[in-house]
Amino acid sequence: MIVMKFGGTSVMDPAAIQRACSIVQGRLERKPVVVVSAMAKVTDQLLAMGRAAGGGDSKQALELSRALRERHQSTARQLLNPAAYGEFQCTLEQEFDTLDELLRGVAAVGELSPRTSDNVVSYGERLSSKICAAAFTAMGVNSAVVDARQVMITDGQHTRAVPQVEEIDARTQAIMGPMLASGCVPIVGGFIGATRDGVQTTIGRGGSDYSAALFGAALNAEVIEIWTDVDGMKTTDPNLCPEAHRIKVISFAEAAELAYFGAKVLHPATVLPAIRKNIPVRVLNSRNPGNEGTLIVARAPHSRSIVKAIAAKKGITIVDVSATHMLMAHGFLRQLFEVFDRYRVSVDVVATSEVSVSMTVDSTQALPQIAAELQKIADVHYTERNAIVCLVGENLRETSGVAAQVFSALGNINVRMISQGASEINITFVIDEAEVPEAIRRLHKHFFTSPDAAVFD
Ligand code: ASP
Ligand code: MG
Repeated sequence: MIVMKFGGTSVMDPAAIQRACSIVQGRLERKPVVVVSAMAKVTDQLLAMGRAAGGGDSKQALELSRALRERHQSTARQLLNPAAYGEFQCTLEQEFDTLDELLRGVAAVGELSPRTSDNVVSYGERLSSKICAAAFTAMGVNSAVVDARQVMITDGQHTRAVPQVEEIDARTQAIMGPMLASGCVPIVGGFIGATRDGVQTTIGRGGSDYSAALFGAALNAEVIEIWTDVDGMKTTDPNLCPEAHRIKVISFAEAAELAYFGAKVLHPATVLPAIRKNIPVRVLNSRNPGNEGTLIVARAPHSRSIVKAIAAKKGITIVDVSATHMLMAHGFLRQLFEVFDRYRVSVDVVATSEVSVSMTVDSTQALPQIAAELQKIADVHYTERNAIVCLVGENLRETSGVAAQVFSALGNINVRMISQGASEINITFVIDEAEVPEAIRRLHKHFFTSPDAAVFD
């Protein structure tokens, strides 16, 4: 069997859903499970509704909900014949009535808890999976919706719940296995799940890819296909650098680093289930299905360039901590990291000297509290609006002098921190956010087009 995941833009309107359906039709004999995201922008709109309601503005929340109701209605109307639409409309009305009730409740209390936020936001995938199932059926594909809450079992950390792999494996096999055996295509919403007690959860923004990989691992899929709106992963962001080209094959480790450090095409956790079962992942374009996209596998062939790709992640804060008494003392780093740990903030890049430590974090929410605690043991200051730039490639293991090439390519762009990851397949450095476009262009030019850059055969 295979898993086919369609992202928001691949189910954004009737034409996109029809395209997705015909792509699925072309693979029916491979027994697909279809995972869908919410229609494009819907998740953001639901979050905006939740926030409006949480701020007591039920009028605005309900207006946003009405617009969403109309968009889903009109999409379904264009995809279904009048009889099928009549039936489907009842389902839609019920869903939106329940959502509106929920929003009114939130507005009355004047507070949106993470638990309720998950409930509000889950409507995106609940609705898109239902619309797709109805549309696929109308187009002659034997398909049925699987309620994600029955299969995607998570812990209770709302908005970023952790999937419970063994339970997901067992339930996915029990529910989707027989469907596949009988020739039915299961259609399930990504991103959303539930605790063992049935409380609605979500697994983090962009998490549909991760859902797809978890279902694929549970069912020992031949391949996990991630259908998006670009021809796979690129050597860098083509918006910054039009010469960026498609990566044909990339390793799980390289893809994970790139996804984590800013490449938007894939959720970084997607490769975890794929690695566990050694299942290839392929990133494909639903608007250009003939293109073979990017294949992600355990061992990718060596690329000719040293670097496989360059990614950048903005919105990074550097936290500098210095303490002279740390000179020759031990236990200081442990104390430091314990503070970050307590606030569940993860640190990405670390650079140390004898008396100071610089760290980067990508969320500033808990920073004032963290800084207050750190101040008890050291001097702390932080600078916002930085970016992590990350060069990834298995060839970096065998190449020396890359940092020197990076510095010379960057020229007058100031590097604030640099670290070469322990995985040996990345070089990561931190610069001012405003300099990202220029830095990316210079590095891409050097590593991908310059005759001076070392090449591998
Ligand atoms: N709809 C969710 C989001 O926008 C999940 C996803 O699309 O992967 O984050
Ligand atoms: Mg996505």
